[in-house]
Amino acid sequence: MEDCLFCKIIKGEIPSSKVYEDDDVLAFHDINPAAPIHILVIPKKHISKLTDLSKEDEALIGKIYTTINKIAVQEGFSEDGFRVIANCGKNGGQEVMHIHFHILGGRELGPKIIH
Ligand code: 5GP
Ligand code: ZN
Repeated sequence: MEDCLFCKIIKGEIPSSKVYEDDDVLAFHDINPAAPIHILVIPKKHISKLTDLSKEDEALIGKIYTTINKIAVQEGFSEDGFRVIANCGKNGGQEVMHIHFHILGGRELGPKIIH
């Protein structure tokens, strides 16, 4: 999609520090990390918000989670664990309107989701 930051990253028009890529999914380091490990996992298909997901996206979302596991093994933080967060809309604090899954790790994040 034109004028979408993450679509531009997918197309290589904006550089990113890639962690993983296949035909459907791209993962790269967050530019402003909130934890020692902070990776964004996105579908290559442009979907603005989680609430725009449709039935046909169910396999894609499943693939994103198995890809997250693959990345955790590849990057060596599978055993230590991590947190996955997906923000949606205004109250969810979503800033980039292309769905994305934050992988956070590299330290104990504690039981609270909101700090
Ligand atoms: P949101 O608040 O929408 O869930 O998260 C958007 C995330 O994208 C933020 O954590 C922010 O740091 C990250 N981000 C914004 N612009 C860029 C960029 O140009 N490159 C990368 N790698 N991350 C970005
Ligand atoms: Zn997009």
